[in-house]
Amino acid sequence: MLSDAELDRYARQIILPQFGGAGQAKLKAAHVALIGAGGIGCPAIAYLAAAGVGRLTIIDDDVVELSNLHRQPLFADDDIGASKAEVAAKVARRINPHVEAEARVERLDEANAEALLAGADLILDGCDNFATRLAVNRAAVALEIPLLSAAIGAFEGQVALYEGWRAGSPCYACLVGDDPNREGINCAETGVMGALPGMIGTTAALEAVRALSGWGRSLAGRLAIIDMLERRWREVGVPADPECPICRG
Ligand SMILES: [Zn+2]
Repeated sequence: MLSDAELDRYARQIILPQFGGAGQAKLKAAHVALIGAGGIGCPAIAYLAAAGVGRLTIIDDDVVELSNLHRQPLFADDDIGASKAEVAAKVARRINPHVEAEARVERLDEANAEALLAGADLILDGCDNFATRLAVNRAAVALEIPLLSAAIGAFEGQVALYEGWRAGSPCYACLVGDDPNREGINCAETGVMGALPGMIGTTAALEAVRALSGWGRSLAGRLAIIDMLERRWREVGVPADPECPICRG
């Protein structure tokens, strides 16, 4: 199933007994949909492509701006004005020619979410607004796809894994409610150090690899809160809400 070139490329992770050739084969067979090729999406895309996830769908309707470059290292000066999804997909293919990376230059919303995400084995949401996150969550529950949700504030990051279609397992809305007008955190207003989304994006990539290949302690139903002002990592269980209109607990 894996060629000699692939065995060479992935040798340092295949040698891990918890992962091995079986883990690599699972990554190769996997399809990950990413929402947002921004501060979180850029490192996640780079590491998932490098790790050998077989297929990536990158969904983002934004173009690269000068003020993105301090935290979105897939992009360079001469990409300003270009589609983030298209540049990111091109870089992913350049990092690893064994990866199929497809750009979807579309804004994900309630109407198109299920069509865009159907067929994925895992969704990684690193987008910058609450309405999109709710649409992604609703589709993830309906399609029964694990949702890895990653977000940042000024000096804090959060990463959680939701399997909301399972009885007793929370979805994203169990944690935050389902009001699309809820105030989101926008780094244009709050500011952010570039390496923080880098750290959260790579954490999300590692958790995606874990979820797809199954080793160590699952993040399912748990929320990791990484505070880089004080340098603290906390983890809490997210209770399923029996009143949740999306997953009904
Ligand atoms: Zn729920």
